[in-house]
Amino acid sequence: MNTMLQTAQDTVRAAAERLGYDDNLVQAMLEAEAEHIFEVEAGGKKYPAYRVQHNSKLGPYKGGVRFHPNVSLDEVRALATLMTIKTAAVDLPLGGGKGGIAVDVRNLSKPEIEELARSYARHLAPHIGSGKDIPAPDVNTNAEIMDWMVDELEKQTGAPDQGSFTGKSLGNGGSEGREAATGRGGVIVLGEYLKAQGLAGKPLTLAMQGFGNVGYYFAKVLAERYPNMRLIALANSKHTWLKPDGIAVDGSTSGTPRPEELSNLQGLSTLPRDAIIGVKADILVLAALENAVNGINMHEVQADVIVELANGPVTTDAEQYLLGKKVAILPDVVANAGGVIVSCLEWQQNLKGERWQEAQVNEKLEKILVKAATAMITYAHDHKRTLKQAAVELALQRLHQKITPHTL
Ligand code: NAD
Repeated sequence: MNTMLQTAQDTVRAAAERLGYDDNLVQAMLEAEAEHIFEVEAGGKKYPAYRVQHNSKLGPYKGGVRFHPNVSLDEVRALATLMTIKTAAVDLPLGGGKGGIAVDVRNLSKPEIEELARSYARHLAPHIGSGKDIPAPDVNTNAEIMDWMVDELEKQTGAPDQGSFTGKSLGNGGSEGREAATGRGGVIVLGEYLKAQGLAGKPLTLAMQGFGNVGYYFAKVLAERYPNMRLIALANSKHTWLKPDGIAVDGSTSGTPRPEELSNLQGLSTLPRDAIIGVKADILVLAALENAVNGINMHEVQADVIVELANGPVTTDAEQYLLGKKVAILPDVVANAGGVIVSCLEWQQNLKGERWQEAQVNEKLEKILVKAATAMITYAHDHKRTLKQAAVELALQRLHQKITPHTL
């Protein structure tokens, strides 16, 4: 079993034990309801493909499709388990699933990628759809690929089903606000935490690792909502930039700018990439990769609060160490749930044949996340749990209510 799967299952098991659930129930929460293991074809070659449908007690399976050479059944199982926790932690009417193809897309032409995507949707056609399982983009998949998959599914079933995938292009039933949703959600969750600590509106400083889709929108929304807070450092896969008087995230380019393109970072000398972890700031935002803070660099952390925008950016050993130092960790399952929440809103728009304005989508996102974040913070306080323990226990309690003895 790979480490990610082990960690995901340990998280569920530990929370279930704290809640006093018996072994049968724990088993029912860990086991996937269905696993589809097949091969897809492109350019005359075959590639291993997977879709794990982990849990549908709260609604249709929901989770991304990843195209990456490291995709394995265990990795997909782990990510599907985490999706079950995430959708339940923020109380969406959705379950958890995940899919992927073990392929290096850099070796494929665009028509071959389309062939691969269509082959994937064709194989899964009997098992997915807006009432059963709703895949979305993940690593190396995007709106165009989702559009192809919807088209292929509709060809196979002969029925229109726009809500069968989310993360589609705007012209094809995608939702306004999806691009910024994960970063925006991170700001909402951080805001609720600071409010609960009596720190809202204080002139706090932030350092952020990762300046892609999630990091950029986090910084942008933060500046709009909390002009008093100052982003003093940021890093990408090459360097760390430090600017103690604050980094303005201007929109000098269309789309997501690279740090080098921000006007007040131009000409500034840089620090080594990993220096970001040890920057002296009140809040450290992790928006790049898994395992970013680990057993080796955990001693460098100087922040009092960590926001997990990437999935699993703090390893279990680092988490234990940091909690011992009274560092608060806002857990990924809630802090980065903005994306899946707006995916859920996209699906609901498609089912109703509606199209909501961006302001309407943002308002709904805010309502769902404020509720989830305050529930997590209150539960952690009342039951003396870490924020992550609180989020997972709340998720398991929602699942527990749906798992009646006769379904075991
Ligand atoms: P992205 O590819 O747009 O950006 C990633 C950023 O991380 C880039 O700035 C890159 O330079 C930087 N980076 C990569 N390796 C690094 C390293 N070793 N050190 C420092 N920086 C590094 O990706 P994204 O969509 O912004 O996603 C970021 C993370 O958030 C991923 O872990 C992703 O799984 C997770 N996530 C994304 C979404 C979403 O909606 N996009 C939702 C939930 C979780």
